Amino acid sequence: MKLKTYDDRLTLTNGSYHSLVNARKPEGIDEKQAYLIGTGIASLAAGCFLIRDAHMEGNKITFLEQLDIPGGSLDGNIRQNAGYVARGGREMGHHFEVLWSLFSSLPATEDPSMSVLDYFYYTNLDDPNYSNCRITRKQGERYDNGKFNLGQDLAKELALFVATSDEELENKSIDEIFSEELLESDFWTLWRTMFAFKTGTVHLK
Ligand SMILES: Cc1cc2nc3c(=O)[nH]c(=O)nc-3n(C[C@H](O)[C@H](O)[C@H](O)COP(=O)(O)OP(=O)(O)OC[C@H]3O[C@@H](n4cnc5c(N)ncnc54)[C@H](O)[C@@H]3O)c2cc1C
Repeated sequence: MKLKTYDDRLTLTNGSYHSLVNARKPEGIDEKQAYLIGTGIASLAAGCFLIRDAHMEGNKITFLEQLDIPGGSLDGNIRQNAGYVARGGREMGHHFEVLWSLFSSLPATEDPSMSVLDYFYYTNLDDPNYSNCRITRKQGERYDNGKFNLGQDLAKELALFVATSDEELENKSIDEIFSEELLESDFWTLWRTMFAFKTGTVHLK
């Protein structure tokens, strides 16, 4: 599928050299400012692309974040002298072309002679990791049994949840939506440890 865009470099087809060409400075960019809502990876990446591709000066870009913690779903942190740090691991995919392009143009904090992409690539090459199970306890004892153990009723409960509109879910905590039985299932243990979900009432004001 071809993306509808005015910027031909975004076609990103196999073997296309367009994506490698440095963008020219757009006319009038020095008179512009950008205000980005949130500090999730989408906003942070947009800020980087504004600097790299639109040649906007960094001090003209403002991030507006509603929470005290930046990073959005990346659950991140800004540390002095270390930059923006995302806690916890993330699985990356080969198809993350835009992210890889971004990473290839940023110097790695650990070794500024390398790009973030180089550092990421060689770290995984030199220290590959894999897991035989999802959850361990007592320093290495396998905890999960690799099964969801959902009966028909709980499977139905999940299916109904998937079909629920965003409006109906808004401002509700997890335990207002799911039954106790579901929250005690093996499925839930796997799901909550994957996405760091907490039960309990946490209403956003
Ligand atoms: C535990 C966990 C593990 C994950 N693992 C992976 C993985 O392995 N691989 C993967 O690809 N993805 C993973 N994801 C998903 C990925 O992290 C998210 O899809 C991605 O971070 C979302 O980024 P975003 O910028 O689109 O949105 P968000 O990160 O949600 O950022 C939106 C930001 O905007 C702020 N905001 C919203 N509205 C306003 C407003 N009106 N005013 C001011 N601020 C506002 C929010 O507070 C938030 O900080 C994981 C997610 C979680 C939670």
